Amino acid sequence: MNEPPHHGSIACDVLVAGSGAAGFAAALTARLHGLDVVMVEKEPLFGGTTAYSAGVVWIPLNHHQEAAGIAERQDDALTYLTAHVGNRLDRAKAEAFVDHAAVMLDVFEREGFVSYELAATWADYHPDEPGASQGGRSLVPNEYDGRKLGPWFESLRPALATMMPLGGMMVGRNDLPHVFRMTQSAKSALHVARMVARHARDRLSHSRGTRLVNGNALIARLAVSAFARGIPLWLSSPMVALVSDAGRIAGAIVEREGARVRVEARRGVVLACGGFPANDALKRQVYAHLAAGKNHIQLPPPGNTGDGLRLAQSAGGRFHDEVHQPAAWTPVSLVPQPDGSTIPFPHFFERGKPGYISVDRRGRRFVNEARSYHVFVPAMIETCRTDPVVEAWIVCDHRAIRRFGLGALGPAPMRAAPFLRSSYIRRGDTIRGLARACGIDAEGLDCTVAAFNAPARRGEDPEFQRGSDAYQRFNGAPGHAPNPCIAPLETPPFYAVRVVPGELGTFAGIATNANAQVVGSDGQPIAGLYAVGNDAASVMGGTYPAAGITIGPAMTFGYIAARHVAGLLDPVATKVG
Ligand SMILES: Cc1cc2nc3c(=O)[nH]c(=O)nc-3n(C[C@H](O)[C@H](O)[C@H](O)COP(=O)(O)OP(=O)(O)OC[C@H]3O[C@@H](n4cnc5c(N)ncnc54)[C@H](O)[C@@H]3O)c2cc1C
Repeated sequence: MNEPPHHGSIACDVLVAGSGAAGFAAALTARLHGLDVVMVEKEPLFGGTTAYSAGVVWIPLNHHQEAAGIAERQDDALTYLTAHVGNRLDRAKAEAFVDHAAVMLDVFEREGFVSYELAATWADYHPDEPGASQGGRSLVPNEYDGRKLGPWFESLRPALATMMPLGGMMVGRNDLPHVFRMTQSAKSALHVARMVARHARDRLSHSRGTRLVNGNALIARLAVSAFARGIPLWLSSPMVALVSDAGRIAGAIVEREGARVRVEARRGVVLACGGFPANDALKRQVYAHLAAGKNHIQLPPPGNTGDGLRLAQSAGGRFHDEVHQPAAWTPVSLVPQPDGSTIPFPHFFERGKPGYISVDRRGRRFVNEARSYHVFVPAMIETCRTDPVVEAWIVCDHRAIRRFGLGALGPAPMRAAPFLRSSYIRRGDTIRGLARACGIDAEGLDCTVAAFNAPARRGEDPEFQRGSDAYQRFNGAPGHAPNPCIAPLETPPFYAVRVVPGELGTFAGIATNANAQVVGSDGQPIAGLYAVGNDAASVMGGTYPAAGITIGPAMTFGYIAARHVAGLLDPVATKVG
């Protein structure tokens, strides 16, 4: 590699590109071991996709399990990954993840870098497979006061606008049960009233609510920890080229305030640029439905254009796309905005609740709606394989929409009228009327609902066995008997929202070894160069075994990379699978 032209230079031990969970985890760990760290972020806002996310982490054998009375055997998680990921599992990386994840969480919680609560009933997504957990590996970030960021608050990437009602109020996973029950329980009504009151106060002095939950809470806590430990974060400062010296990566060129700065990194460079979800050209090469000219929506922010991949490849790193799926999928609806644009809304919650089904344009169900979003989208693509557009409709009745909402429309007392006016939500007094409003085959939808309703009254779903495992039931409505995932659609009027394929982030990425070192096509590590988070090929082999399986490994491999940089890890096998 020739050294690109630059003006000015500075030096540090470790240079980290990207300010998502992976980047902060690497930076904080390196700092913990006494190293001098610089973080650079391409965008004017920090936090990346992580700031949009729920911030959930999947951490096998975590120390929260004991207090919840959950016992996990040492080998269970590896057994599960072996069974689920199959021949795409990179065993060395998977072992490194399982060996370090709980230690990382323990260290980070002790240092105050993160704060998590166990979601004790959140089962792995394929809970009947060997080694799967019925709850105990997925953890939800605790809320955080954004005011602790001081002036940095305005540079924290806000959550997706469609996920913040009332102009910037955050609603977390632990708030949702209260939101769903606020018209039935005084305790839940009080919880929601407190959230709204805090939000109203915040709006007098801030551009949005400062009660942070989900990925915003995670990133804010990491950032405050980093700033308190003297780690500089340069915004609007993309890493544009790597610099090598004597056969190792010795730093990088970073664009900052219109100039190119050479940052010497004495110990190593960590790429944590969040993969390539915003790189349409590269995606067309590896996403089969895009290659076939089908439609697709990306959720991650625009800066995630695959810079980490390009940089790693420029140093001889190998792109690894032998994965089950090249990205993490989720169905999204498109919420119309006053200026004519749309904002995506990811459908994680309501699909599997009682009173909902999903159908294609023929009015046919095509998937068990209570299974994971990563299962839903391939099924949607498959059912639409001869259609010009990949789309489906989530359909529900009046009772369900008032109780659980539909997409960006929350439950009662939130008003449906604006969403009906913009045609985001369609309505019909009858199932056939709804079908006509959506352009769905009316005869098909009528038959599907009739066929669904009869067994649904007994809590049964002979077509897809919805509600048949612990994860599906977790997605249902607690206390709804006999099956928490099933109720007939029989209370008019009826409603529907259109969903299309969307993605949470890429799974294909740079080949790395168990130390998070970038490896070349010969399987050998490139000295001084690391890739973590979605820049690295997914340790899950392109599968989605549980909630938190990207951020858990992102932080764990950030931790591993920094410990390797600090000389604290033994050399490991360098071959990737
Ligand atoms: C709505 C939603 C919910 C999700 N919920 C979860 C969840 O609960 N749990 C989970 O595990 N996963 C979840 N995901 C997926 C998860 O958010 C991502 O996989 C993860 O955050 C990626 O982390 P990262 O650190 O690799 O990248 P990011 O968080 O995307 O950070 C990468 C950063 O690098 C910056 N960057 C890019 N190029 C450069 C460059 N050249 N120089 C410097 N900086 C650069 C980007 O601007 C970005 O800020 C969710 C995703 C979405 C969209």
